[in-house]
Amino acid sequence: MKSEQWIEKSDKYIMKTYGRYPIVPVRGEGCRLWDADGKEYLDFLGGVAVNNLGHCHPKVVKALQDQAAQLIHCSNYYQIPQQIELAELLCSHSFADKAFFCNSGAEANEAAIKLARKYSRDTSGPERYEIITAAESFHGRTMATVSATGQEKVQRFFDPLLHGFTHVPFNDAAALEAAVTPNTCAVMLEPIQGEGGVNIPSPGYFQEVRRICDQHGLLLIFDEVQVGMGRTGKLFAYEHFDVIPDVMTLAKALAGGAPIGTMLAKDKFATAFVPGTHGSTFGGNPLVCAAAIATIRTIQEEGLLNRTEEIGEYLVGELEKLGEKYSFVKEVRGIGLMIGMGLSIPGAEIVTKGHARGVLLNVTHDTVLRFVPPLIVTKQEINKMIEILDGIFAEVEI
Ligand SMILES: *Cc1c(COP(=O)(O)O)cnc(C)c1O
Repeated sequence: MKSEQWIEKSDKYIMKTYGRYPIVPVRGEGCRLWDADGKEYLDFLGGVAVNNLGHCHPKVVKALQDQAAQLIHCSNYYQIPQQIELAELLCSHSFADKAFFCNSGAEANEAAIKLARKYSRDTSGPERYEIITAAESFHGRTMATVSATGQEKVQRFFDPLLHGFTHVPFNDAAALEAAVTPNTCAVMLEPIQGEGGVNIPSPGYFQEVRRICDQHGLLLIFDEVQVGMGRTGKLFAYEHFDVIPDVMTLAKALAGGAPIGTMLAKDKFATAFVPGTHGSTFGGNPLVCAAAIATIRTIQEEGLLNRTEEIGEYLVGELEKLGEKYSFVKEVRGIGLMIGMGLSIPGAEIVTKGHARGVLLNVTHDTVLRFVPPLIVTKQEINKMIEILDGIFAEVEI
């Protein structure tokens, strides 16, 4: 079927939760996608920071195929070897001691919110349940994570929100400290804000946050759903900031495109979850865990972390050159391949012009072009994208 026919059917049957573009991708390989009409696209969004290994990485495909033929699903009432192995891999490469598995970023954050409340109730009583999060943060679309999110556009229409969330400006430790009350149990932050416009905190911010948490006995939860799994050139973004959280959530890129989420924690906090307190039917099933194991091993075997740092610097450099040419480019900021280009104009038109010329771009927070391509992106692919972007910018300038 042609793209046009799919779009017609989509209008008829799919709820309009997304303002979808008229593009129907049906096949992917590396950084490239092809639509139902055979048109090729260079993908600089990577499924919103999901396809870190590119589309259909052969090792992920093989892991999924092999596991699908063995055992796809089995209840968490039983022991699941792939889940155990994945937990060991994640814990041995991070600060964490234990893992809980679910199916998405929002669910991972739900688990973190519930764990923080349970731990604090166990140790300090039922009044300590408030969680401080940041303005312009994004933590998901479920009711608890919408309440945690610091963006009005995500929250409106859904009152009453879940009680117990306070929002403070990001990158402002004094504001955070001032917001702590006797009812506060945790602080939840993205190490780098993604949806909020690729906001990188100043050096020293997280040391202050850690000190405040220690002083007041608060859990420090890092939402690494978008920035984890090598995106920044380290396996986890917290490694850039010389700070250790108590709890961390991951999802997007964890299983090479298969739906998964996880909440990792130090033992001290993890033990607050006992049988009956939390769960997920699909969470950590053999199929997705096999994909996640293959994803992590591939990141290691292919030396992707060092490569990401290098290629990220190259992309930032090329974007900065463009920035010097066009006055509406305000700033280029990024770590690894988590890159934002702040504009003084809305970015929506640039994105649609990109589509026409065969490159998938993204705008977040209205005026920030966000570049989160697969970590395997090549210099040639970057050059091609830059050339196209240059052409688009030249039109915008008029
Ligand atoms: C995408 C995202 C989420 C939500 O993940 P879903 O899988 O869509 O539920 C949560 N936090 C951050 C930082 C994200 O980028």
